[in-house]
Amino acid sequence: MASVMFTDCSSISSTLLHVNGRRGAILFPHCVGQLRLRSTASARGCSISIRCSSSPSSATSVDGKAVAKTIRDEITLDVSRMKESIGVVPGLAVILVGDRKDSATYVRNKKKACESVGIKSLEVRLAEDCSEEQVLKSISCFNDDPSIHGILVQLPLPSHMDEQNILNAVSIEKDVDGFHPLNIGRLAMRGREPLFVPCTPKGCIELLHRYNVEIKGKRAVVIGRSNIVGMPAALLLQREDATVSIIHSRTKNPEEITREADIIIAAVGKPNMVRGSWIKPGAVIIDVGINPVDDPNAPRGYRLVGDVCYEEACQIASAITPVPGGVGPMTIAMLLSNTLISAKRIHNFE
Ligand code: NAP
Repeated sequence: MASVMFTDCSSISSTLLHVNGRRGAILFPHCVGQLRLRSTASARGCSISIRCSSSPSSATSVDGKAVAKTIRDEITLDVSRMKESIGVVPGLAVILVGDRKDSATYVRNKKKACESVGIKSLEVRLAEDCSEEQVLKSISCFNDDPSIHGILVQLPLPSHMDEQNILNAVSIEKDVDGFHPLNIGRLAMRGREPLFVPCTPKGCIELLHRYNVEIKGKRAVVIGRSNIVGMPAALLLQREDATVSIIHSRTKNPEEITREADIIIAAVGKPNMVRGSWIKPGAVIIDVGINPVDDPNAPRGYRLVGDVCYEEACQIASAITPVPGGVGPMTIAMLLSNTLISAKRIHNFE
């Protein structure tokens, strides 16, 4: 059981609350200030301190960075428990094709995250002009390697490669990205369980869970229908009994539809597309978008913004993820979680 210290700075009052199990955070519907979620201990017996500074009509900031840190701490404990009990260290293999700088950065970050929780990571780098067969061969080696529990092919692949063919070659038991059609198919079907859920949408739902946002029976709108974010996010919300609408580039009245939503997941890739007028008062917003916009005052000449106009949304929504620091850190935490789940399943370790 975890303890939560809630301090409302406007009234200088504090309350100690207890929450069960892994859901270490509570969303207070009456709380209009900025929530800062601080984990003071890791894993299941964690104690989380939430401080609420009052500024009326300002939404709760859903702190993905803090939640991801709590999850990484939980994973670290489980990884060492597994190593001590059965001598197995979870292993993740990453295949990087070509020399895109952004992809190289993502891979580096994933490897660093693995190290930080004790997961073994292996990287294969292949040249931009390598053949599809070479990529398939690397996948096949990792499929057969018992020390590897997760295989990730960094996307996008060079244009001469058939992405579908390559992703299909990853063994479904090691498909920690959750992109294999069998995993997506099971996600879509009632009564079936995918072995893995794609990391970014899984992170969005985990944030809702950890902030105790009720999903069942709520109206949810997902903006975007990509294979990696929008579509699986909509399927996950539906599995949790939300009534889900999906908005895409051909949707005629996105603003009107979005205004109906209790929960909005925005995954479009268009800076500040969702304005205050699109939002129902009290809605909870998960902003997946990561968009660079010019900013001469920023050290790099640009800054990152989401798909939702944060300043406007803060005045209307009850809670919103910031960009950066919202969904981004959760994606990597979910990759680590999927790798651990895979290792546990393969070795029948509880
Ligand atoms: P994507 O593959 O480009 O998909 C964008 C989706 O948005 C498509 O379904 C598209 O509709 C829809 N769309 C485009 N313009 C629209 C408009 N004007 N109105 C309504 N819908 C529109 O992008 P993605 O890979 O899903 O990524 C979306 C955003 O999330 C990007 O900013 C990306 O950087 C970010 N992202 C963040 C993370 C993270 O970890 N935080 C992970 C992945 C992605 P159609 O299907 O009709 O084309």
